[in-house]
Order: sequence, then C-alpha cells, then structure tokens
Amino acid sequence: MPKQKVIIIGAGLSGSLLAIYLVKRGIGTDIYESRGDMRKEKMSAGRSINLALSDRGIAALREVGMDEYMLSEAVPMHGRMIHAIDGQTKLLPYSGRQGEYINSISRAGLNIALMNEAEKYEGVRFYFNQKCFDLDCKTGEAILENTETSERKVVKGNTLIAADGTGSAIRNAMLHGVPRFNYSQQYLEYGYKELHIPPNKNGGFLMEKNALHIWARRAFMMIALPNFDGSFTCTLFLAHNGENSFEQLTDEKSLMKFFETNFADAIPLMPTLTEDFFANPIGNLGTIKCFPWNVGGKSLLLGDSAHAVVPFYGQGMNCAFEDCRVLDQLIEKHGTDWETVFVEYGGLRKENTDAIADMAEENFYEMRDAVANPIFVRKRELETKLEQTFSDYFSKYSMVTFREDLPYSAAMKKGNAQDKLLMEICAKVDNVNEIDLSEVVEKIKTL
Ligand SMILES: Cc1cc2nc3c(=O)[nH]c(=O)nc-3n(C[C@H](O)[C@H](O)[C@H](O)COP(=O)(O)OP(=O)(O)OC[C@H]3O[C@@H](n4cnc5c(N)ncnc54)[C@H](O)[C@@H]3O)c2cc1C
Repeated sequence: MPKQKVIIIGAGLSGSLLAIYLVKRGIGTDIYESRGDMRKEKMSAGRSINLALSDRGIAALREVGMDEYMLSEAVPMHGRMIHAIDGQTKLLPYSGRQGEYINSISRAGLNIALMNEAEKYEGVRFYFNQKCFDLDCKTGEAILENTETSERKVVKGNTLIAADGTGSAIRNAMLHGVPRFNYSQQYLEYGYKELHIPPNKNGGFLMEKNALHIWARRAFMMIALPNFDGSFTCTLFLAHNGENSFEQLTDEKSLMKFFETNFADAIPLMPTLTEDFFANPIGNLGTIKCFPWNVGGKSLLLGDSAHAVVPFYGQGMNCAFEDCRVLDQLIEKHGTDWETVFVEYGGLRKENTDAIADMAEENFYEMRDAVANPIFVRKRELETKLEQTFSDYFSKYSMVTFREDLPYSAAMKKGNAQDKLLMEICAKVDNVNEIDLSEVVEKIKTL
C-alpha cells in the first residue's frame, strides 16, 4: 500500500485526474464527492453537457495515458461557424495550421473515464454522497456529512487537496480561517441556459459537424457544440435583466418572438425549444480569484476552487488539468514535502490563472460583439493567412489554445500587443488581400 495518503475533496474533472497522477507517483488518495456516483445515476440536465478540450488539457491526459481514448470519443471543431441574422453562415478557422483544432467532449463521459481509470489502482478510493462542509485550518481535518444519512465524520490525510469547484467549501473555510486571505468574486450581468438540437432521423448532424456554431448578436449570443451522437448542445448567453434578457422571456410567445427575430435559422432545428427553455435552469457566470491557495502543507486549492473563470475561452477545465500537470512536476522535484510543493505551485500558477481569467472575460465581449464587427472578421482572416504563411506566427487564441508550452501570462502579453496592431491595420483596408503579410510579420517582431 502507498505510504502517503492524500484526501481529495471533489471527484469532478480535476479531482479524478489528480488521483491518477498521484497514484502513479505511489501516493494513495481517498476522494470524497458530494454527489452520488455518476456512473450509476443520471446527471441533471442543463449544466454544460459538453466542453471544448484543447492542447493544455490534452497534454495532461497524455501524461496519464488517456489522450488517445478521450480524443476518439470527441468531435473535432476546426473553426467558428458564424450564423448571420439572415441565416448566412461563414466558417472562421481557429488556426491557419493543419492539426490545430479543438474538441467537443462529453463532460460526463470524460469524468466517468477518469474515475474508471483512477479506480484501476489499488491506492485510489472514491466515497460518494460525502459533502465536505468545513476544514479545520489548524489541524488539516476535513468535516464531511453523508448526504443520505446526515452522518458526520472527520477525515485527515498527509495533506488535503480541494478540487470541489466554484462553490468550494474548503475555500470558504480558508476565507474564515486563514489570516489575510484575499478573495474576490465578480459576476457577469449575463447568465446562460442550455438548449438542444437533436440528431437528424438517421443519427447525423443537422448543421456542420466539425465547428463551434455562433450566433453573435451584440448584446447577447448563442453557441452550439456538437455531440458524438449527432446532437448539438446550445448555450444561450443573455442578460439576467433589462432589454433582451431572461427576465423578459416569460412565456412561449415572448420566447418564440425573440428567437424569430434573432435566431430564425435555428428554430426549425430545435423542436423542443420551448420545453427545454422553461425546464432548464439559468446558470450564473463569474470569476473567482483568491490567494494564498495553501494552508502550509496541510491543504491546497486546485482547479475552479482556486480560480473559477467564465467559459468564453473554453479553458476552465484545460487550465484545471494544467494545474494537475504542474503540481505533478513539483512533486517530482520536491517529493511529498507538501509545503514546499504548494508554495512553489502557487508562485508559478497564480499569474497564469489570473491571465486566463482576464482573457476569458475579454473573449466574452469579443465573441458577442466583435464577431459581428467587419474589422474583427478581417483581423481573423488576416491571422489565418499569417498562420498559413508563417509557421512561427501564433494568434493570441492559438497561443492560449494550441501552445501548451507557453504560460497563459506570456500568451496574454504577446497576444494583446499583436491584437492591437492587427486591428489598426485591418481598420485601414477593405480587404485583407491588400495587406503585405511580410510587412505585418516584421512589425510584429518589433513589438
Ligand atoms: C457553461 C460552461 C461551459 C464550460 N465550457 C468549458 C469548455 O468548453 N472548456 C473548458 O475547458 N472548460 C469549460 N468550462 C469550465 C469547466 O467546467 C470547469 O473549469 C471545470 O469543470 C473545473 O473542474 P474542477 O474539477 O475544478 O471542478 P468541477 O468539475 O466543478 O468538479 C467539482 C466536484 O466537486 C464536487 N463538490 C462540490 N462541492 C463539494 C463538497 N462540498 N464536498 C464534496 N464534493 C464537492 C462537485 O460535485 C464536483 O463533482 C465550462 C463551464 C461552464 C459553466
């Protein structure tokens, strides 16, 4: 049996992946999850059914030998399919290079595969219906309650890692138990609701399969990601209150009028629109930043519990997987000297998770407004041409999404400078063919 035992709170995406990383280093884990076992119970509808998996996440899956299997279950998305208000569509590739695309993957499918893989090892044990509600920051003991019997118990390992997501109970305990604990939570005025496009009669796709579909309408937008079974999961992002908001869509008549005005081409594809809209919950969108992430060597926050981001760069899970990867590298370096590992981990990661949080928020405005802006569309065309022509040119999106070797903070710094320059160039021309690509690349080198 492993000599060390780590308590993990949360058997979601990062908790399950982390268990595999740790056991491969000979460290046992007990994982406590508040929900039932999703392999036996149906997950509630309407909560981010699929996710975009990209290179940072794939890199972590590769390290635990899960990348090929997971990619075989995913649908590649080569670009954004823009749906104009008149129903016209246009594909904007994510990258000008071959092989650079993102993958739509089932959240439940991925989570189940990670749990199954972790459970193959003797040192890994999952405990379900165990809700953590406190951490004693002095002793490192976590207090759990069985959600079926209300029975309470106290658990303690060599250390504890919180992977309990946005509403983290461990972070909440640190807020009260750690002196000078910095914490901020910023909600967008927008919420989201999931909707559904079924497969066609033959199980095929009703729209282009290999794309992330976007209906950008300035003050709001809808996106759709393909599922393996031929369906699409749509997410409508809309203000909570005011003009064009969830608050105004109170009955079938107002909903249909809103869709006829804004998403007319999607209506024939959505036979259960009304049922789905009124059955599915409205989710909140927010950014959480906090620090420090550790209590000495007793505990560490990881994934969304440390840094929840809005989903507009498709990076929350990818970033949480990168967390596991970085932590594993530090365990390789320092062994189970947990305090040293956690302090160095926080020092390395914080700047990068702040960067992806900021870029994700900015990308919301880009996807919502800029995709419908002709200068931005020309800029995307220019970026694609640059990527096709110069193998060492990467747009900000490509640096974040396809450069697992580049920290998020470096991608943000370089990407922002490039974006400013390219927007200035594209504002001066009507057609990107008028632009001298070599001249642009030379200018980028001087930034
Ligand atoms: C609408 C939407 C779309 C998204 N799209 C993408 C995308 O395309 N690409 C991407 O990379 N990311 C995306 N994300 C972000 C991604 O879902 C998260 O970043 C990712 O799930 C974080 O993983 P995690 O393990 O930290 O947390 P979670 O996956 O949330 O797991 C937390 C686990 O802890 C459990 N838990 C919670 N509280 C307790 C407790 N008190 N005690 C015990 N267990 C507890 C939960 O039940 C859960 O199983 C999206 C998010 C949303 C909301």
